[in-house]
Amino acid sequence: MEQQKKNEEQILVRITGQDRPGLTASIMHILSRHGAKVLDIGQADIHATLSLGILIRMDELHSGQVMKELLFKASELGVNIGFSPVSDAEYEDWVSRQGKNRFILTVLGRHLSATQIEAATRIIADQGLNIDSIIRLSGRQTLKENETKNIRACIEFSLRGTPKDRATLQSELMRVSRELEMDCSFQQDTMYRRMRRLICFDMDSTLIQTEVIDELAERAGVGQQVRAITERAMRGEIDFKESFTERVALLKGLDVSVMRDIAEHLPITEGVDRLMYVLKRYGYKIAILSGGFTYFGEYLQKRYGIDYVYANELEVDENGKLTGRYVGDIVDGRRKAELLKLIAQVEKVDIAQTIAVGDGANDLPMLSESGLGIAFHAKPRVVANAKQSINTIGIDGVLYFLGFKDSYLDERGQ
Ligand SMILES: [Mg+2]
Repeated sequence: MEQQKKNEEQILVRITGQDRPGLTASIMHILSRHGAKVLDIGQADIHATLSLGILIRMDELHSGQVMKELLFKASELGVNIGFSPVSDAEYEDWVSRQGKNRFILTVLGRHLSATQIEAATRIIADQGLNIDSIIRLSGRQTLKENETKNIRACIEFSLRGTPKDRATLQSELMRVSRELEMDCSFQQDTMYRRMRRLICFDMDSTLIQTEVIDELAERAGVGQQVRAITERAMRGEIDFKESFTERVALLKGLDVSVMRDIAEHLPITEGVDRLMYVLKRYGYKIAILSGGFTYFGEYLQKRYGIDYVYANELEVDENGKLTGRYVGDIVDGRRKAELLKLIAQVEKVDIAQTIAVGDGANDLPMLSESGLGIAFHAKPRVVANAKQSINTIGIDGVLYFLGFKDSYLDERGQ
C-alpha cells in the first residue's frame, strides 16, 4: 500500500474547444479504466466554447498510457487537450489556501464595456484579491437595435483573499461606479449571502418615483414651500423629525379623498413589479419602512402582498380633513433601523440575512444595519456612505446582488 502511494502523481488535464454533449463522460471513461482519482474539476462555457480542467491523481506507471488515450479521444472529438504535472508541494499549497476569505463582486449596468470592467477588476487586484471564477448573470442580449427591451448587463466575480483595506476598496468601487455609469456590489461570500430572507424598502423615491408629501402639498396649494423642505431633509441637511412636523402642519385642511386619488396614480419605479413577484415567489419577507405615510404604504402592501408596513399616520378630523398633525411616533432614520432589527427578530432571521434598499439620508441607518444595504438612485450623500448602490438600472437590479440569474427567470420573473 505504502509503496503504491509513492508512485502516484498529479496531472492537470486541460481541454478546450467546441462544446459537445458526452465529452466529460468519454474523458471520465478513460480515466476510470485506469483508476484515476479526481482531485478537482471545473468548467467554463463561453459562447459555446468550453474550457474544462481536471486535476487527477494516478499511478505513474499508467499515466503515459492514459495521456495517449486521452490525446486520441480529443482528436476524435475535435477538441484541444494539454497536460501539466502538478507536484505534491504545489498541490498542498493549493489545499492550504482553501480557508481564505471569499467575496463576491457584482458589476452591472445598461451595457458593460472593457473600460468599466478594467476599473472594477483593477481595484480588486490592487487590494490583493484573486478572481476565482466569472459568470454572467444577465440574459443573452441580441444585437438587433430595435429590440432594446430590458437592456442590461451583469457579471459576477468570485474572489479569494483578504482585502488590504475593505473600506477603501468599497469607496473606490463606488467612485468608479459614479464615474463610469455602472453599479457594483462587494459582499462576503458566506451561506448568509445565499440565504437572505428579509428585505426592507424605503417607499418614496424608492418603490415610487415621487415624494407623496410633495404631491399632497401640491394639492393643498403649498407645493413650493414643502418641496424645498423635503429636498433639504432628504439630502440630510435638516433634522427629519423637525422638517416632517413642519411639512405636515402645512397640509392642514386638505380633504382625505385626495389621498386615494394620489394612491391610485402612484408612479411605480421601474422593475418593482418583477422584483416583488420574484421575492414573493422565493419566500422573502418584505417590509416597507417609510418616513412617508401609512395610507400609501398600505396601498402598495395590498398590491404586492407586502408583509410589513411601518410609516406615519396623518390625523384626520371628523369632517375628513387633515388636521396638520400626525398620530404616534415618527418613523425616522433611527426608527427604520430599529424596525429592521425587530422584524428580523420576529422572523427569526440573522441580521446578516437582511437587505435594505433606500434613497434618502434617513435610510442610511437601516442600510448600514442590514446585511446588504443598497442605495437606490440615491442622493449623493447617501451613495457616498453606502456600500453598494444601483443607479443605472431599475430596482429589480437588486436580484443580481442576491445572485439571481436572468436565465433562472423569465420576463415576469417566473
Ligand atoms: Mg425615499
